[in-house]
Amino acid sequence: MPPPSERPLAEAVPYSGPLLTGVANDLVIPSVLNLEEEEKYWVPQQPNVWFRPLLFSLSQGYWVNILRVRKSGILSRHRHSGPVHAATLKGRWHYLEHDWWATPGSYSYEPPGDIHTLEVPEGVEEMVTLFHVTGSYTYVEPDGTPVGVEDVFTQLETAKAHYESVGIGADYVMSLVR
Ligand code: FE
Repeated sequence: MPPPSERPLAEAVPYSGPLLTGVANDLVIPSVLNLEEEEKYWVPQQPNVWFRPLLFSLSQGYWVNILRVRKSGILSRHRHSGPVHAATLKGRWHYLEHDWWATPGSYSYEPPGDIHTLEVPEGVEEMVTLFHVTGSYTYVEPDGTPVGVEDVFTQLETAKAHYESVGIGADYVMSLVR
């Protein structure tokens, strides 16, 4: 059989083998970037800060969400126990400890163990960023003293409470679990 690159397109046919055992359902959420519609799907995190959960991986300890911030200033100082991948969609933000800026269309990687302080600068009315976060945030004082912690389980709990309170229900949030 010729390698895939040499086969004609007519051979593009879907998999028709046996049912796959143990493979989780895929997950599709339409229009997650429509920031005005479906307002009740945005979970309040602190005044003028919301997140929209996309996926909770309880088996691998990571979560994916879109963070939406409508204020300027310091959001939090935190240490990561795992890697973070971010795609900035709107506005801009940075960490006080680093000289790079997250700007619309940019990708950024935050290494496990880093401690940094997230600031949204004056003049940014709305910041929107998609985050893939593994492990936990440990919120810290300037000297590194821990003051709080967040992980996929606390995020799930916060989202579940919100979705129950607005009438969407806990089933919705559990549909995002893999
Ligand atoms: Fe971070």
